[in-house]
Amino acid sequence: MSSHSQEFLQQADVVTKDLRHRGLIQTALRKYEVARDKKKAAFGDWQSARQAAAETKWEAINHMDQYLAEFADKLEARGTKVHWCSTADQARDIIVKIIADKKARCVIKSKAMTAEEIHLNAAMEKAGFEVVESDLGEYIVQLRKEPPYHIVFPAMHLTRDDISDLFQKELGSAPTREPEELTMIARRALRKKYIEADIGITGANFAIAETGMISLTENEGNARLTAALPKTMITLMGIEKLLPKMEDLALFLPMLATAGAGQTVTGYNTLYGGPKQPGEVDGPEEWHVVLLDNQRSILLADPEQRDSLHCIRCGACLNVCPIFRNVGGHTYGTTYSGPIGSVITPHLRGLQSWKHLSGSSSLCGACTETCPVKIDLHHHLLQNRRNASQEEPNAMEQTAYKAFGMVANSPGMWQVGKELARMFQPLHKFVLGSKLDPAKPWTATRDVQPVAQESFKEWWQKHKSAKQAK
Ligand code: SF4
Repeated sequence: MSSHSQEFLQQADVVTKDLRHRGLIQTALRKYEVARDKKKAAFGDWQSARQAAAETKWEAINHMDQYLAEFADKLEARGTKVHWCSTADQARDIIVKIIADKKARCVIKSKAMTAEEIHLNAAMEKAGFEVVESDLGEYIVQLRKEPPYHIVFPAMHLTRDDISDLFQKELGSAPTREPEELTMIARRALRKKYIEADIGITGANFAIAETGMISLTENEGNARLTAALPKTMITLMGIEKLLPKMEDLALFLPMLATAGAGQTVTGYNTLYGGPKQPGEVDGPEEWHVVLLDNQRSILLADPEQRDSLHCIRCGACLNVCPIFRNVGGHTYGTTYSGPIGSVITPHLRGLQSWKHLSGSSSLCGACTETCPVKIDLHHHLLQNRRNASQEEPNAMEQTAYKAFGMVANSPGMWQVGKELARMFQPLHKFVLGSKLDPAKPWTATRDVQPVAQESFKEWWQKHKSAKQAK
């Protein structure tokens, strides 16, 4: 068992027993479900919209080479410097160098999961720069020195009281439970940082190949300020963020808002086409776009799971996943949690070390059903399990399945097994939970149902012969 797997199991055990924590998550997600269903109804035909979105992403991902070249050419034509990075190391080095070349000290950043993926903040801080998250949820988890809890709601595990306590401790504010006052406290602290920052860093929700533009969608206006105030801008994005045409946003913007947060459309939607052009009065003087591969090409080369690159990071699959709802976001120990994280993390960080995530699923299919771009998530979890066991077969498992196969295929052996189980099950209570308990991993959290004293087959034979005797 890998150390990541052990950590996952230990943490899951702690979180699932923390009823307060689970209550917070369940309440937040129930509210989300109600809002999402209302907004979904406004689509008229949500299933057709999903199909159209899946086909658009299929086109973008299957012709990624062409669309990426088109996107980069258009961006460069307006003076943006495009950087191609195969690895996380390269992306971090390029960004740190840009900041160092500018002799910058303070960096303001809007939410970007790709930056979490490459641990960009740690690299910038190690290089001696101050980094401030401008998204409220991200700012809160940054003050707590924690990673985001959820792709869309980074601080969903915290109450107003938790946030008030944090602001008192870190920002010296007065206690308050009012959301508006808490927001104002963060706003006052952040506004100073926008002014001080020499560099702004954003992510990208969509990259429009046709026009060479980056689409950013957010609810707080913080990404706009991040892009508007500093003289140098850096956008870090995964190469899968492509959409072929500008008109595709007409579907993807409301779809992302609906699936992600139960909104008709997100508060602020902005398109960026590069640095300030001659004659323009505002905007950054210099813009860098860092295109990150970081194993995405490996996913692209996999015809079975390529569609996981269609993901628009709406977080909807996390919200409906019974595992996420019980173990919470931090337990995964990954940048991308929930079903999509369980599918792609083994590709991004190693199948054997992260295969446990694909095992931590009920395979109920709720994720696949909810995904707005129709990614076949639960089948991909099964494929990861199969690939992991083919790559490194587990001798114990193989022996156990072979033995079960032999017994299940032989009516005589099945009958003997049943009789033995009936005979010995009453003794189980004497070893229950001890080292001698053969079912300990199961009985640690569940009851063992008694073996029926009469099987259906026995019942049927008895009734059939009684009927025939009449
Ligand atoms: S896999 Fe689908 S549901 Fe999950 S985050 Fe990505 S787009 Fe959203």
